[in-house]
Amino acid sequence: MVISSIHGIVRGNMDYSKFEKDTEAFSLNLLQDTLVVVKHLYRNNWTIKDLSKYIKRKQLEVDKKNELLNKKFLGLKMFLNNNKCPRCESMLILANISIPKGKANKFGYKTHISCSNENCLYEHLDKRDIDAIIRDFKRREKERRLSNG
Ligand SMILES: [Zn+2]
Repeated sequence: MVISSIHGIVRGNMDYSKFEKDTEAFSLNLLQDTLVVVKHLYRNNWTIKDLSKYIKRKQLEVDKKNELLNKKFLGLKMFLNNNKCPRCESMLILANISIPKGKANKFGYKTHISCSNENCLYEHLDKRDIDAIIRDFKRREKERRLSNG
């Protein structure tokens, strides 16, 4: 529809007020951007259908990624709610250690776990990365739930 109207502009037989009404939901900026995209696609022999397919596929990828992030976030939240500082019961803080195993990180620690309470000096180094810590925690929780019936 948009495409045939764009061709209409070129042909000079355009129903200007109908076009304006049909596109009133879109800002002029969006219409300009659309024109740039559509012209570019047509120049490269793509169709609106191709664009639609691409967007659908890309959206699925984004949804999958978001789902994964939400899962990760929920896992971390669950871990933090169930694992408090062993010294003062405050919230823990997990941080990645970016220094690879070597002179500065002799044991290859990947996670720094510390207490959020400034007056508490609890800290713990872990060789697992945060994902693995949360995975292990979830596995233990599942086992605990199963053994409790
Ligand atoms: Zn503490």
